[in-house]
Amino acid sequence: MPEQRAVRAADRQVGAAPRGPGRQRTDVAHVDVAEGAHGDADEKPAAPFPVGDARTLRTVAGLSAAGLVAPEGRDELEKVAARYAVSITPVMLERIRDGDEDGGVHRQFVPTADELAVDPAETTDPISDGPFTPVRGIVHRYPDRVLLKPLLVCPVYCRFCFRRESVGQGESVLPHRDLERAFGYIQDHREIWEVILSGGDPLLLSDRRLSHILERLDAIEHVRVVRIHTRVPAVDPARISDALCDLLDRGTPVWLVVHINSAHELGAEAAAALRRLSRAGIPLLSQSVLLRGVNDSTEQLETLLRTLVRNRIKPYYLHHADLAPGTGHFRTSIQHGQELVAALRGRVSGLCQPTYVLDIPGGHGKVPVGPSYLEGDEHVMTVRDPWGGVHRYPPAQDAARVSARA
Ligand code: SF4
Repeated sequence: MPEQRAVRAADRQVGAAPRGPGRQRTDVAHVDVAEGAHGDADEKPAAPFPVGDARTLRTVAGLSAAGLVAPEGRDELEKVAARYAVSITPVMLERIRDGDEDGGVHRQFVPTADELAVDPAETTDPISDGPFTPVRGIVHRYPDRVLLKPLLVCPVYCRFCFRRESVGQGESVLPHRDLERAFGYIQDHREIWEVILSGGDPLLLSDRRLSHILERLDAIEHVRVVRIHTRVPAVDPARISDALCDLLDRGTPVWLVVHINSAHELGAEAAAALRRLSRAGIPLLSQSVLLRGVNDSTEQLETLLRTLVRNRIKPYYLHHADLAPGTGHFRTSIQHGQELVAALRGRVSGLCQPTYVLDIPGGHGKVPVGPSYLEGDEHVMTVRDPWGGVHRYPPAQDAARVSARA
């Protein structure tokens, strides 16, 4: 039985985002969830976020004024923006304007009319979070770990986002009562060894709110590791303050998994932020999405992976892009992904190699889909080296024969 089958709550799709024209847009990007926007005892839906940095671009008019989109395509882009949130932080705008020669940063954040084309294979919940949501805010797909989604807001909105139907769509911070239920769920399931804070971007929470969550998790004895998925170190590096680094350095180890797709996203401020995290002893991993026109050449991927390692980040996952609506223009074939990964094998250090993975549509879990270097069976086995040479590998010795000879 696949391990992700351990938890299934098919009839309880709690926490699904409101859909359709009536939904309320959380139209913010850079937000520090201010105290008072959601008191800890607040049972009401979260109040709208205070607007963050006023220079964050959130509208087609803003993109146009910044020279990021052509005036003639604005009607189509308005349709895209009405459907999926837009946000580009000042730091990412600067990266787009300064040396984004192959357009890899621009492509990730600036909407295009291509997003209006939906392939029949694409779905609103491409990795099926819903059926694995036993209580609001929790996704429990694998026995030993859960996702805890304390908010559904991001500092930037990626045009290929796999949760684009839920993030930036009106739901914001998980209300206190639901957060308490989520802690209760984790407490009651002793098999949960790791809690992954995701969303949305958990580093948009205020220090006080984040600290509260981490303290509650610290207090659950069977939770031994906390992981945080974030784009903040690259897209809003000023958020990585010394106070935040202190907060993350705690009894239950916190691992930070930074989402970065192109080397150019990492400017000097981001490098300094990553150094602060590293000095605080926070282990750093990366996750990247394989994206057409962003990182789908050997050279682009190699530069990205070397840049990550130079910034003390161990490349962890290279995701095949999920089947989210209107994202077909970003997806490569899996075969192309395998060819890229195979080309890197002989070219960059093992330290730079991520695992190429696919989240099987339907919620069937994540599996490695990189190339195989072995062929044959237990009698005749061949292995291919990084440069294409094929070599025989001897079969395993029969245990009885070996002991008889001894
Ligand atoms: S940071 Fe992650 S959750 Fe947020 S928009 Fe990008 S892909 Fe989606």
